Amino acid sequence: MSTILKGIAASSGIAIGKAYRLIEPDLSFSKTAISNADDEISRLHSAVNSAKADLEVIRGKALVDLGEDKASIFDAHLLVLSDPELLTSIEDKIRMDMKNCESALKETTDMFVSMFEQMENEYMKERAADIKDVSKRVMAHLLGVKLPNPGLIAEEVVIIAEDLTPSDTAQLNKQFVKGFATDIGGRTSHSAIMARSMEIPAVVGTKSASNAIENGDIIVVDGLHGEVHINPTQEVIKKYEDELRSFEMQKLEWALLKDEATETLDGKHVELAANIGSPQDIEKVLINGAEGVGLYRTEFLYMERNQLPSEEEQFESYKTVLEKMNGKPVVVRTLDIGGDKQLPYLNLPSEMNPFLGFRAIRLCLEEHDIFRTQLRALLRASAFGNLKIMFPMIATLDEFRSAKALLLEEKEALVENGILVADDIELGIMVEIPSTAVLANQFAKEVDFFSIGTNDLIQYTMAADRMNERVSYLYQPYNPAILHLVKMVINAAHNEGKWAGMCGEMAGDEIAIPILLGLGLDEFSMSASSILKARSLIKKLSQNEMKQLAEEALGMQTANEVMDLVKNKIL
Ligand code: PEP
Ligand code: MG
Repeated sequence: MSTILKGIAASSGIAIGKAYRLIEPDLSFSKTAISNADDEISRLHSAVNSAKADLEVIRGKALVDLGEDKASIFDAHLLVLSDPELLTSIEDKIRMDMKNCESALKETTDMFVSMFEQMENEYMKERAADIKDVSKRVMAHLLGVKLPNPGLIAEEVVIIAEDLTPSDTAQLNKQFVKGFATDIGGRTSHSAIMARSMEIPAVVGTKSASNAIENGDIIVVDGLHGEVHINPTQEVIKKYEDELRSFEMQKLEWALLKDEATETLDGKHVELAANIGSPQDIEKVLINGAEGVGLYRTEFLYMERNQLPSEEEQFESYKTVLEKMNGKPVVVRTLDIGGDKQLPYLNLPSEMNPFLGFRAIRLCLEEHDIFRTQLRALLRASAFGNLKIMFPMIATLDEFRSAKALLLEEKEALVENGILVADDIELGIMVEIPSTAVLANQFAKEVDFFSIGTNDLIQYTMAADRMNERVSYLYQPYNPAILHLVKMVINAAHNEGKWAGMCGEMAGDEIAIPILLGLGLDEFSMSASSILKARSLIKKLSQNEMKQLAEEALGMQTANEVMDLVKNKIL
């Protein structure tokens, strides 16, 4: 029977394909006493052997489909399974405690994991993650449960999950993963942002996709309207195939604007820039005719790995981006982890409110080694293009001053050592905390530019977790309260002769764009895939008329009124 689930349209496009459920398996078990230790140990050996056989197959497949780099992860897992110390400890526990294999496996591996996690040496710390993964696989065999493996999907599928972490998303192979639907998340959750940058159609926040969908169901992910169709009729599939074709045609029309300037009817030029997460994204940035990179989220360099990236590795990534952008501006944001972006290898204690906690610049101002390494890599890369640096999550002027002081210290040291550093690097901040928006006139005297991070600014102003679909109704970019904050920031910048950009998702939103244009925003940074559509819209608007529209919007009472205003007058 065909069913439709409603969710949040997170990444535009339409995907039709077979469901692949990426659900965390239930590995719960009960502790039981045993009478025969030898039987239990032979169960252990057979589960370990099956896990090894799995890993050999996965490794071979990874090598062919994904390359040596990803395949080597499984070499490390195989090594753990052949480690006599680990296996003997589990066997000893079975014999001594006369408990079932599952309990002995869990207790022993937990002990090894916490031992490795506490070690200073980064290489040793990595082993903790390997042991966790491997013990999960052995446990799954003991319990007869099948484990999903997102990185190894090698047929065309639509992924169904409760949630996808940013690193799950990064592992998805675009060749095979046609789209995804999740239970939780909002338009600005990082998996949604990554889906847009990878141009994978996605619907998030469906609340029930993972329950309602079985492996192999035929799924349509309608990332334009936020719908997921389960086993639709042939007519519905046909309708979507037609819609997919017209969407592709529309994209061809927009593509003609690739090399055109982004100018309004009355001659106001604004910059349309792209948000990126890695040097690989630059290809899309150039294809979509971006005039710069307005946000390089460097934290993705630190993810999907077991240790911090070295200065050299970072330098190479930043240099590549700067060189490929060939003199166009590149705004690099310093490390912004925390919230839904965690780095397990840093072993930070879990927090009650990660979005309000020890993250981004707060962490960098404590962990100087991590921060200074990144600053050095950036400064060295500055010689290869038009670099601008910005700090995330700035809440006070003191934070900005401290971060700037560290940057200047590193710069001085490099220059003293004869290393070439650009001397005109603009230094800005993200405005994503209301205290900073309110004091923007003070900040504007000290920074070179602002980039408004509305994903967080809305979350903090409306007190609505951007990941929580139950409060997603409060996630209101068009709320006049948000528009007033944005106006304050833009005016504050202009009063000091500085520029103001926006790199939150609101910058690429077709309802928001006319208002932002009227408020005088200088730079709009968005997913590369939204740029041409935004350019086509801006070229049809007059900035003078948008000033009036923005005035009207600022005087309204609700987000819906603002939305209706723009829809009636512009779209
Ligand atoms: C933002 O908060 O608007 C932003 C661009 O940063 P991120 O989405 O990475 O938190
Ligand atoms: Mg943010």
